Amino acid sequence: GRVFCVGGNWKCNGTKASIAALCNDLQGDAVDAASCEVVCFPPFIYGTYARELLREDFQMGVQNCWIGKGGAFTGEISADMIVDVGFGWACLGHSERRHLPQIKESDETIATKTKYALDAGLKVMFCIGELLEEREAGLTNSVNERQLKALADIISDWSNVVIAYEPVWAIGTGKVATPDQAQETHAAIRDWLAKAVSTEVAESTRILYGGSVSASNCVELAKKPDIDGFLVGGASLKKDFLTIVDSYK
Ligand code: 13P
Repeated sequence: GRVFCVGGNWKCNGTKASIAALCNDLQGDAVDAASCEVVCFPPFIYGTYARELLREDFQMGVQNCWIGKGGAFTGEISADMIVDVGFGWACLGHSERRHLPQIKESDETIATKTKYALDAGLKVMFCIGELLEEREAGLTNSVNERQLKALADIISDWSNVVIAYEPVWAIGTGKVATPDQAQETHAAIRDWLAKAVSTEVAESTRILYGGSVSASNCVELAKKPDIDGFLVGGASLKKDFLTIVDSYK
């Protein structure tokens, strides 16, 4: 079976004091690595600081990286550097990076970044998802498939890819997808993987749900057969994150 996986996307939040407090709040009994994998994504600048304070059974990743190797790219951080400092993961293609007018990363940019990060040895949480107007227009599956196809066109090894389905209308809004809505879309993503990549990749690739996941809605979502974990924003900054991690049980 697929190992349950929970990501905590801290986004652009935190101070040294709040991160120290959070890492303290997140102390607890070790998770069973054979059943659940947990990854926290602090802002780059706090990465090493957070690593020293965060429990060791929680892995750590970054929220973005440069599209290729290092060099004259002022302000950027390469995948090789992320590997060098000992971080195992990158969260790429987050809806904020796809849609914020100041950022506007394209499907191709995100796919290319992901390929480079995988080649450098990182695992990637690859985020996809539709806008509210796209859902209302019946375009949910075609948007997800377009975003995934950009990646499927340039990689063949999916073993270090985890897909995070995050409907944009559910992110930070308190408007969580219902378990049925999420299950239906996750199943469609898995069907597409079977068709466009292979049945093995469809069976083995974890598909996480993200968007207003909370301590109170995680258990019902986690029961669905095609929901293999969560990517958590707001609730990852609170002790509630532990309740969400525990929903694998
Ligand atoms: P919220 O959990 O705050 O809705 O954010 C979800 C998200 O964007 C995680 O990447």
